[in-house]
Amino acid sequence: MLILTCPYCGVAAEETELQPGGEAHLKRVGPEGSDDELEGYLFARKNPKGVHFERWRHAYGCGKWFLAARDTATLQVYGTYKAQTTHPPADVVSEIRKSRPDWQPDWTQAE
Ligand SMILES: [Zn+2]
Repeated sequence: MLILTCPYCGVAAEETELQPGGEAHLKRVGPEGSDDELEGYLFARKNPKGVHFERWRHAYGCGKWFLAARDTATLQVYGTYKAQTTHPPADVVSEIRKSRPDWQPDWTQAE
């Protein structure tokens, strides 16, 4: 069973207490975006076997959205953090690298 710790209230919530919200760290495409960018934002989602960043809501708890980093193959949870962060915090990245030294983030520091 998947257990995620809510970063707001600190409760270690079972999967049944949570609502999944899909991929984390998506960038919205505004009216100035091209058709391809809008299509990618609306429909293209990652589905990796391995490290994945997801949105979850503590539906039967505090009700807040948060983000989680976990491995989709092993269900190992690397960490959870508040939804307002644009990239995973350093402690979460460090946890990922302990288990997956070959893992490379797909973002750049300039973003
Ligand atoms: Zn909570």
